[in-house]
Amino acid sequence: MTTTTATDTLAYLRSKRGGFPLIDCGRCGATGFMPYSYSGGTCFACNGSRHVVPAGKPRTLWADANRMIDTAARADTSAHIDAETGTITCGVTAGDQVRDTYNMPAAQAANVAWRTVERVEIGDLNGCVSRIGCNADGSMKVRSLGLDVTIHYTDGTSQRGGHLMTRKPTPEIIARRDEMGAQARKAYDNTLAARARKARRATA
Ligand SMILES: [Zn+2]
Repeated sequence: MTTTTATDTLAYLRSKRGGFPLIDCGRCGATGFMPYSYSGGTCFACNGSRHVVPAGKPRTLWADANRMIDTAARADTSAHIDAETGTITCGVTAGDQVRDTYNMPAAQAANVAWRTVERVEIGDLNGCVSRIGCNADGSMKVRSLGLDVTIHYTDGTSQRGGHLMTRKPTPEIIARRDEMGAQARKAYDNTLAARARKARRATA
């Protein structure tokens, strides 16, 4: 039998946030839900994840890491079949780490975890056509046809691709993100140590 402790869960969540420190979300009381708010009641401070990166240096580093990925690692999740060669191409492949922040307010997007692609399922033609002009007989000359895409992640979740603003960082960017995560962890450990010293002084 395996038991899951709070520490295990936090360690797991941290691993999905590039090693950044995490604390309970104060807005929703770590429930992930805010009744009567928009977005189906999902707490936008933690994006329903129940945890946030602590304020101060850790959160600044977290914002920097996300900005780095959002500007440098935009990925095309659509899939096409070349009309002439029949070659299928898709911008996302197994093993990629992606982070989808499509159409989200910045505060919510900041708490979207990275997910690892397990496999990409290519489906039927989705009706998207890339045309390059007309044939001599007036018919449409087609370069490629869009295909339905479903991305399956190693955490068991999946999503339809094609229109998503997905980020796919390179290994170098991931290494830099993890470095920033380690810095943030150190900063938070220092904060906790300072707090403990202060508490000891107060009771001495
Ligand atoms: Zn929350």
